[in-house]
Amino acid sequence: MRIESFTFNAFEENTYLLIDQGKEAAIIDPGCYEREEQLTLREFVEKEGLSVKYILNTHCHIDHVLGNQYAQNTFQSKLMIPANEMHTLHAVKAYAPNYGFFHYQEAQPDRFLQEGDTIRIGSSTLEVLYIPGHSAGHIGLFNRNDKQLISGDVLFFHSIGRTDLPGGNHELLIRNIHEKLFSLGDDVIVYPGHGPTTTIGEEKANNPYCAIEV
Ligand SMILES: [Zn+2]
Repeated sequence: MRIESFTFNAFEENTYLLIDQGKEAAIIDPGCYEREEQLTLREFVEKEGLSVKYILNTHCHIDHVLGNQYAQNTFQSKLMIPANEMHTLHAVKAYAPNYGFFHYQEAQPDRFLQEGDTIRIGSSTLEVLYIPGHSAGHIGLFNRNDKQLISGDVLFFHSIGRTDLPGGNHELLIRNIHEKLFSLGDDVIVYPGHGPTTTIGEEKANNPYCAIEV
């Protein structure tokens, strides 16, 4: 799949657009909040003639869900969130004003995702991996054919997600990275929720939080 990235909102969150050859697409973690950010996403979708089938959340912290409702309304797509993240999603509307996001509105999910689910986008398939530790219900999305992993806030370039927020668990996070992500293959490209892309091999060798001695 072709993957386009946009960096949105004050948290510099990466919103990804996954595009199958047949122009079917999915938006991962729409973080667009300002009008300009919303237009950037919409204009790209229109210019490319994409049909956005799904909006997917890796987890429901504020920076990853700010644009859920805009994307759902604009593209008439189904919103799918992790099964264990409803609580995290509901919390956002209470604390959004504290961060200056006064116009945030919660979107209603159309479906819940759990480990083992598969999502079809055109001729491509995404597998849902359950990788809690940064948040209680966090999932990753793995395209096995093209060796692409959407890692959300679990694994970053030379870093890992914070574990001091509700639902966070440091040991669980490290264990999930080792057992579920490092086993995917060294040549898998990782698309994180913040910062640059990386690979599983690079993080195995050089991530100071979870590298494996070789
Ligand atoms: Zn997060």
